[in-house]
Amino acid sequence: MSHSVKGRSVLVTGGSKGIGKGIARVFAHAGARVLILSRKLYDAKATADEIGHGAFGIAGDVTSLDSMEAAVAEAAHKNGGLDVICANAGIFPAARLEDMTGAQWDETIVTNLKGTFHVIKAAIPYLKRSDQGRIVITSSITGPITGFPGWAHYGASKAGQLGFMRTASLELAKYGITVNAVMPGNIMTEGLLGNGEEYIKSMEACVPLKRLGTPDDIGHAALYFASKEASYVTGQTLIVDGGQTLPESLDALVQA
Ligand code: NAP
Repeated sequence: MSHSVKGRSVLVTGGSKGIGKGIARVFAHAGARVLILSRKLYDAKATADEIGHGAFGIAGDVTSLDSMEAAVAEAAHKNGGLDVICANAGIFPAARLEDMTGAQWDETIVTNLKGTFHVIKAAIPYLKRSDQGRIVITSSITGPITGFPGWAHYGASKAGQLGFMRTASLELAKYGITVNAVMPGNIMTEGLLGNGEEYIKSMEACVPLKRLGTPDDIGHAALYFASKEASYVTGQTLIVDGGQTLPESLDALVQA
């Protein structure tokens, strides 16, 4: 099935690398006019050039509402409006609870959770003018479903995004804007590589489909939520994890 986003103006936060880059690539190949946002303008522009199909790089920091207001205004000006926001930018620095500082907690919550609020709040006036306003949030299985030592703050931010999404979808329904979230499992990205080879091997072993996900796997899920065909779907989640959250026990994984 092909999903209709041809000609749509799409802003992807954290689009210069990893999952965001996969989302940007999938949308660009589907004919959308993609705007890639990251803090480093050089990286955003380099990724846009690599993806081609008219993709364009802009700078912005999701931790600042002012920055997001300026970035969405620039994006809307460049493309003559905005139809889709992929709120994807996020960080996952590990810190065990006993060692975690308040600053570490704040950095992760402010980037992942408040950053989601910032870009969506800034984009609402533009999305209201679209006849296909869509918001797709990149959450995670970590937090809403699973836990992992070192990521209490991260898990809280990712679960928080889903709580935010459910009320946002209610408030924005009157404008025909839908709000949904993709929940990736372990996806091979630059950010994930930072967790080390051992982590990646142990994660691969836990996935029934026996591989980590690709950024494009998440891009295709986001594409569905952003499409015309998904116009009656709002406030929902889609887990894309190769079955990682399915086994009830180690036996259920090994014996299968
Ligand atoms: P990544 O490879 O580290 O890429 C992160 C992207 O976000 C980069 O483009 C980065 O660019 C941007 N970014 C970071 N902080 C930002 C800020 N304050 N303002 C604007 N852009 C910012 O990470 P990833 O693995 O693709 O993860 C992307 C999203 O997927 C995150 O929300 C993460 O929680 C979620 N996720 C990832 C996995 C996984 O297995 N990889 C699993 C579940 C969920 P700059 O540094 O230039 O700003």
